[in-house]
Amino acid sequence: MRVPYPLILFCCVAVISSFAAPPDRQVAITIDDLPAGMSDAMPAQAITQMTAKLLGTLRDQKVPAVGFVNEKKLFKIGETDERIKALNLWLDYGFELGNHTYSHTSLNRAGLQAWEDDVIQGENLTRILLAQHKMHLRYFRHPYLDTGMDLQTRREADAFLSRRGYQIAPITLDAWDWMYAGVYEDAKKRNDTDLQQQLVKSYLEYSDAVFAFDEQLSVHTIGYEPKQILLLHASNLEADHIGELLDLLRKRGYKFITLQDALEDAAYSLPDNYVGVEGTGWIDHWAITQGKPPHGAPVFPQWVIDRSKALHQPHATPTQ
Ligand SMILES: [Zn+2]
Repeated sequence: MRVPYPLILFCCVAVISSFAAPPDRQVAITIDDLPAGMSDAMPAQAITQMTAKLLGTLRDQKVPAVGFVNEKKLFKIGETDERIKALNLWLDYGFELGNHTYSHTSLNRAGLQAWEDDVIQGENLTRILLAQHKMHLRYFRHPYLDTGMDLQTRREADAFLSRRGYQIAPITLDAWDWMYAGVYEDAKKRNDTDLQQQLVKSYLEYSDAVFAFDEQLSVHTIGYEPKQILLLHASNLEADHIGELLDLLRKRGYKFITLQDALEDAAYSLPDNYVGVEGTGWIDHWAITQGKPPHGAPVFPQWVIDRSKALHQPHATPTQ
């Protein structure tokens, strides 16, 4: 039997397109809760080791990143100098620092005045360290992504940040690495390598699902995939495994760009009237502003939540 020519052509195109290069995607990496999400439970030496390992991978792979600081975590009797040195590694390695408030204060819970005070208190040392590296403090990341529970508060907070010279650092990709990181830290301390492997496998699978969902949601909401901004947290999970996460992103077609480059995307100037008790990412902000609240996001693995709750330790509480 002769196969019609158009059918052969169709099959060839189908085969070729299935091997086609992944889409041209771009992402900026941001890392919160410096010097470490679990700084209370980590001695300064462990923070230094974790930081050097994390930054070593990023530097070796030429991946830019901005780290967001909670200066309160630097002040621990007998350890402050070493903790400041660990933070300074970020600048020594060629990365940038931003403000994440002094004590990780939620705008939604603390109210505008207390939150503004915490923003100001959070910039003292970071400004000095940046100046020593001929840089200036220009980025702010909201703790818990809480941007205000009503529009007036949100706009006043935005104006305050702008007056102090900040650009807000939004996020569009977030796979709740902080939730995995607490359980991973505990497993690492107990030398439970099986659990560590299970956590990493789950983290990478969940991240892949979240990225796929948010890519589709981007197109559905604003018509294209913007230069994305990924939220991570300073932890041993990332120090030990960020290389695998970077590989996963490369497989999805991502190139790594600076936060400054990402913020030039017109998406970050779109109308955004999101207010709410729960902080969330900016693709959600745009979707909700358009009256199209997103549905069907990947479900976070319950067993990781259960393990996190079971730890009953300070680092088991959400620190996003
Ligand atoms: Zn945070």
